[in-house]
Amino acid sequence: MKPKARSGRTKKRKHAALARVKNRPRKPAPKLSSSGLRAAIEIGELVRNRAEAEAAIAQARKSHERLREAIDILPQGIVFLDSEGRYLLWNKKYAEIYNKSADLFEHGVRLQDTLRVGVERGDYPEANGREEAWITERLQKLYEPGERHEQKLSDGRVILIEERRTDDGGVVGLRVDITELKQREESFRLLFDGNPVPMIVCARDDGRILGVNDAAVAHYGYSRSDFERLTIQGLQAFDAETPWAGGDKHAARSWRHVKANGDLIDLAIYSRELVYGERPAVLLALMDVTERKRAEARVAFMAEHDGLTGLPNRALLRRQIGKMLPHTRRSKDGLAVLVLGLDNFKGVNDTLGHAVGDKLLRSVAKRLRSTLREEDKLARLNSDEFAIVQSGLRRPDEAVGLANRLLEAISDPYLIDGNSVVIGASIGIAMAPGDGEDFEKLLKSADMALSRAKTDARGTFSFFEAAMDARAHSRRKIEVELREAIQNEVLRPYYQPLVDLADGRITGFEALVRWPHPERGMISPAEFIPVAEDTGLISAVGAQVLRRACMDAATWPDHVSVAVNLSSLQFRSGNLLSVVNDTLRQSGLPPRRLELEITETLLLDKSPQVLATLHALRALGVRISMDDFGTGYSSLSYLRSFPFDKIKIDQSFVRDLGANREAQAIIRSIISLGQGLGVTITAEGVETEAELHCLRAEGCHEGQGFLFSKARPGSEVAGLLGAGTDADKAVWTMVA
Ligand code: C2E
Ligand code: MG
Ligand code: MG
Repeated sequence: MKPKARSGRTKKRKHAALARVKNRPRKPAPKLSSSGLRAAIEIGELVRNRAEAEAAIAQARKSHERLREAIDILPQGIVFLDSEGRYLLWNKKYAEIYNKSADLFEHGVRLQDTLRVGVERGDYPEANGREEAWITERLQKLYEPGERHEQKLSDGRVILIEERRTDDGGVVGLRVDITELKQREESFRLLFDGNPVPMIVCARDDGRILGVNDAAVAHYGYSRSDFERLTIQGLQAFDAETPWAGGDKHAARSWRHVKANGDLIDLAIYSRELVYGERPAVLLALMDVTERKRAEARVAFMAEHDGLTGLPNRALLRRQIGKMLPHTRRSKDGLAVLVLGLDNFKGVNDTLGHAVGDKLLRSVAKRLRSTLREEDKLARLNSDEFAIVQSGLRRPDEAVGLANRLLEAISDPYLIDGNSVVIGASIGIAMAPGDGEDFEKLLKSADMALSRAKTDARGTFSFFEAAMDARAHSRRKIEVELREAIQNEVLRPYYQPLVDLADGRITGFEALVRWPHPERGMISPAEFIPVAEDTGLISAVGAQVLRRACMDAATWPDHVSVAVNLSSLQFRSGNLLSVVNDTLRQSGLPPRRLELEITETLLLDKSPQVLATLHALRALGVRISMDDFGTGYSSLSYLRSFPFDKIKIDQSFVRDLGANREAQAIIRSIISLGQGLGVTITAEGVETEAELHCLRAEGCHEGQGFLFSKARPGSEVAGLLGAGTDADKAVWTMVA
């Protein structure tokens, strides 16, 4: 019911309004339309007589009709009003645009009256609540035309109005329906203003900022008025750089802008060409990629630097040297690669902990850096090795000077977490272009020189020599052949007797491995055991020697034991205990007849696992001897960490026995120490009667050395046991 009632009321209202408009006293319709029309249809001539006048009028009517036809096909609405604002002529589009008021348009009706009716009916939403004021403003615009303005209609359409005065005081008005344009503008506004991505519109020609969205204000920290004073630099270059693809483009290069707080930000820019308030402009959507760039830079830095010290790593050094080498070849200036290795850094880590170790490395890096010139390169190669590249070198002794300065800089004590830490270093030097044509070769040469420096005397430097390279090659050859020798089980223990110094009897034999080489004859263990240790072959070598020795010893008289040397590395494999156990079982040798010789290096780090293995071996019934006693760092402390069955005094002390009183004193104290601990003392390397005499006088229990016998093949053991050793006579002589 209600809608009906409403429509009834609306109808009534409409009729009333119509009546009002139509009943208003009107001027008689002008015969020849209005003067405006006259102007429009350009009738300029005077009519002389009625006939002429009528013809003219007919002519004018015709023109009027044509004009109407013409303006009806225009896409814009057109209206002609006379000087008092009365409708003279309007086209179809005009009536269409104001479809709600079209019924009011009539020749001679005043625009202000149709407006008033329209306002009353609510056709102009902008007038709501201020009807009179709105009408006044509207009429003002009508009579002071020139400015375009927009008008909203109740159905949401937006009409652009442009009005001009005609010569005769009338008005010609243009109406364009810009609803769609407005909607587009509106959606642009929405997309622009409400977008979380900072956006800027700037003039295409001078880069002036024309508009910014809230996100840009928030991101940059400038106010809108600050922005208006700014220009976007580099827009021209951006314009020229890449073509606009369909009005859009993404800047390949990155941009940098300054925020209000002074921060520099990196941006990726997506842009679109547009017209902004009639100016050719560019809309820039700004993606802040500062963090990403920073992360990328960090990743790139990490890839080429050492995380602990921040120094370049091997990869970066390779790149740097790669650039320097061609120059070295062209010019007379040489280049030195120094590889600096810290001496016993592992010891610092083990005793003071890794935190102190790390701090030490950082301090070392700092000292090294401050010793170098700006143009010298410094890198950390691995845990305790650094590389220094000295360029512009005229003479090798300049490298010597630097090496000495570096060694000196390193050697001062470091105070770390309350600990005074002292660390030495050794340096290997290789010269370019002589010692290697590329980075890897140079570094390898310097590395070899470093190994040489370390073995010669720690705390020094050594130059690379071609002989080192040859040595490295021969080492490699040994490795290959040793693998083959292990495969073919050609390694053999030789046996050197251990003699009881009290009665001259052989108590046992030490198994000393020999490698019968088809070309080189018998190779000494001193030559190939270190290679076996470096290459992981030592476990296989050790197991083969142990098996042979146990099997051989099982055939000897029951009171004769066998001593087998173990490398520290065999303890790392984890299966040493089972290897020994299995070997004893398979050979049938009673455990008490097996002695295992270890060296002090095994106890260097007092690893609980090593000590556990030693105890377990001893629990099997096997005896454990400390070999080469006196050559380690703190021999006495090792004696405390494990209850050895035997101590073998290193041959260097025995060698000095005759000439050196200190050596005698040392031997004497070791012997009394052994007596105190209830440990057998064996002297190694007994070569002379005098030495033997001395050792016996001091009460040494056992001797081993060339004086008694060299190590002999297993086949000769029975003979040695039967005939006694070469020194038997001497012993008996002394006992007698
Ligand atoms: P080591 O265990 O201290 O063995 C004693 C070394 O001194 C042997 O050298 C021996 O021939 C030598 N020697 C004995 N008496 C005298 C002497 O009166 N004067 C001199 N100048 N030397 C004497 P070799 O056989 O060359 O062995 C050297 C080292 O190789 C051994 O020292 C031992 O540490 C190691 N080694 C030998 N065989 C093995 C093995 O099967 N396994 C392991 N891991 N190491 C072994
Ligand atoms: Mg030994
Ligand atoms: Mg020894």
